[in-house]
Amino acid sequence: MRDNPGGPRVLLRRLRELMAEALEPQERLDRIVREIAANMVAEVCSLYVLRADSVLELYATQGLNPSAVHLAQLKLGQGLVGTIAASARALNLSDAQRHPAFTYLPETGEEIYNSFLGVPVLRAGRTLGVLVVQNRTNRSYRDDEVEALETTAMVIAEMIATGTLARLNRPGVELDLSRPVSFTGQPFNEGVGLGHVVLHEPRIVVTNLFNEDAEQEVRRLETALGSLRISIDDMLSRRDVAFEGEHRAVLEAYRMFAHDRGWVRRLEEAIRNGLTAEAAVEKVQSDMRARMMHMTDPFMRERMSDFDDLANRLLRQLMGRGPEAVAASLPRDAIIVSRTMGAAELLDYPRDKLRGLVLEDASVTSHVVIVARAMGIPVAGQVKGVVSMAENGDAIIVDGEEGRVQLRPQGDVEAAYAEKVRFRARRQELYRELRDRPSVSADGVKVDLFMNAGLSVDLPQLAESGAAGIGLFRTELQFMVAATFPRAEAQELLYREVLEMAGDKPVTFRTIDIGGDKVLPYFNGAVQEENPALGWRAIRLTLDRPGLLRTQVRALLRAAAGRELRLMLPMVTEIGEIFQARELIDREVRHLSRHGYDLPTLLKLGAMIEVPSLLWQLDELMGTVDFASVGSNDLFQFVMAADRGNAQIGDRFDPLSTPFLRVLKQIVKAGRAADVPVTLCGELAGRTISAMALIGLGFRSISMAPAAIGPVKAMLCELPVGKLEALLDDLVAAESGRLDIRAELSQFAADNSIPL
Ligand code: PEP
Ligand code: MG
Repeated sequence: MRDNPGGPRVLLRRLRELMAEALEPQERLDRIVREIAANMVAEVCSLYVLRADSVLELYATQGLNPSAVHLAQLKLGQGLVGTIAASARALNLSDAQRHPAFTYLPETGEEIYNSFLGVPVLRAGRTLGVLVVQNRTNRSYRDDEVEALETTAMVIAEMIATGTLARLNRPGVELDLSRPVSFTGQPFNEGVGLGHVVLHEPRIVVTNLFNEDAEQEVRRLETALGSLRISIDDMLSRRDVAFEGEHRAVLEAYRMFAHDRGWVRRLEEAIRNGLTAEAAVEKVQSDMRARMMHMTDPFMRERMSDFDDLANRLLRQLMGRGPEAVAASLPRDAIIVSRTMGAAELLDYPRDKLRGLVLEDASVTSHVVIVARAMGIPVAGQVKGVVSMAENGDAIIVDGEEGRVQLRPQGDVEAAYAEKVRFRARRQELYRELRDRPSVSADGVKVDLFMNAGLSVDLPQLAESGAAGIGLFRTELQFMVAATFPRAEAQELLYREVLEMAGDKPVTFRTIDIGGDKVLPYFNGAVQEENPALGWRAIRLTLDRPGLLRTQVRALLRAAAGRELRLMLPMVTEIGEIFQARELIDREVRHLSRHGYDLPTLLKLGAMIEVPSLLWQLDELMGTVDFASVGSNDLFQFVMAADRGNAQIGDRFDPLSTPFLRVLKQIVKAGRAADVPVTLCGELAGRTISAMALIGLGFRSISMAPAAIGPVKAMLCELPVGKLEALLDDLVAAESGRLDIRAELSQFAADNSIPL
């Protein structure tokens, strides 16, 4: 076996020279394959490029029949080349023709070659093509030769990714990299956004591939690794993550990987083969991703993501790039694509440039999603694979209504979505026209439409939506987006801001409702519960930690000085809890008044009806509170014993069904009898057909997401309430299980030309 002349370093130097020369793309490729063949003492070197139609096309060859270039083709998975592309793994064969996948392409004249080494051309874990060398003799290629060919493949990957080869395409043929891809995830927040990809943790594009001095590069790598390890230690010692189980486990894994000898050795090897430290990180990561991509074990896939994050952090260390620079260079129509992210990180992006958010992971109740909803950004979640397929700057559409994502969409798809956006805008325009109309039904019944809110970013929507006020201010959101408990001053500041923005409109503040699915990383993350939804949450938790409630109540009392303060308690189970809370509030009032503070002119205390136990204490409840609000999200999950966050049973039971409507009716009746205002502030109020049902049951005030106010008002304006009430009386009284109530309501709407 002959030794190769010069080895990988010489080859990389030659490639660098070729890249710098002014050559036509085809000629450059021809010279590259010739150079590789010579360097590796191979009779053949060929490059196949993956097209958008999953065909691998021969783009250049040294040694095979030159007339086969751009004609010889293999499907993904077909032959040795197709197998390499499909598996993203190298094949090193001394007798290729005996391999079961071998396919003979007569036009290439390759039958005389026995040994075969093929490596995938990878970029960010995606296969863009295959690079092959072949020899007549039955030789086996050494590990360093495999390594050298992989390194060369990386240079070619850059050429493909930067569009250098695009000019070689025949008309109508697209490379895989520019292929449109459509993903189906889950709808996390409604709206449609068209724009351009901004990778939240952007893969840094490494442009400087070849090193001048390997030892110097190894030293750079060591320094960067050192800083990386320190930054992870810093994160681990931060108070806010120190208590949190999952987040901490991730960081612990990072720390372990950052010290992983195998990883560091592979990085150093790549540098010694001629790459810069950055290019080495990218190469090792690409190889690893491609190999791990095919693993189905969720634990291993999770580890792959950890390694990805780590490699990105290392690249940023090497290139000295921070997130600030990224935010500054944001396009005007940014659609953020990320595996997941913290709520605060989303708030770092300027709102006016955000058009959407696409997440590979996360759930509807993830903090980042709650914040995105508050900001009114369309969100699709659980969009698997999008991060590795998307490049910064790619055109992308996120459809938060359907949970779909279109990456690099074709013209007609884009046009269809643009039409959808225009349609929505026209509808919004219509709702804006309705904004200042009184919210009164067709037969003159007044129904107050309030909005739900929780952060200061929600506030502008109070004026924009024409809501009558804020029916539910979820104070816990401020706690959820913070890294530590918000101080009393910060709480007071927010409440003051809310009240100022609301002006004359009433605001109902709900005391902090944490626990269940709303976890504060710095607080109850440490509390392990078997059934958190039924556990230590909301009023239960705040009564056990009176300091927390006292601080909040004091901040609210001070912020509402000189005006009405409406306070609402979440998850009340026993009337005694209201007495306890009232005692604490009264004590705070006395304390502030003793110290000469101005107080609210009026204090109204309400309770949420979320726990079924209250249904058998409705008279006592109404005798105790100034108002009540049905939290239909929780009440429904407890009445039906159906976890509100469990997608498996998400659509199984219908709130517009006999048992739940009877429950609601009973609550309305109890409120009327005691002359206590009763409202409803769960998601049910925001869906037009259910809002219609609620009005038919007798609700005269409901609170919903701001975006729902327009559609609900449009429905209300056409609604004959008297007629609907009669229908609902019948529906609720009818024998359970006989009627499809939803269908009956739809029919009623259709018969009366009510827009749903
Ligand atoms: C509810 O449960 O309906 C409610 C409004 O509260 P949350 O969704 O915040 O639990
Ligand atoms: Mg609730």
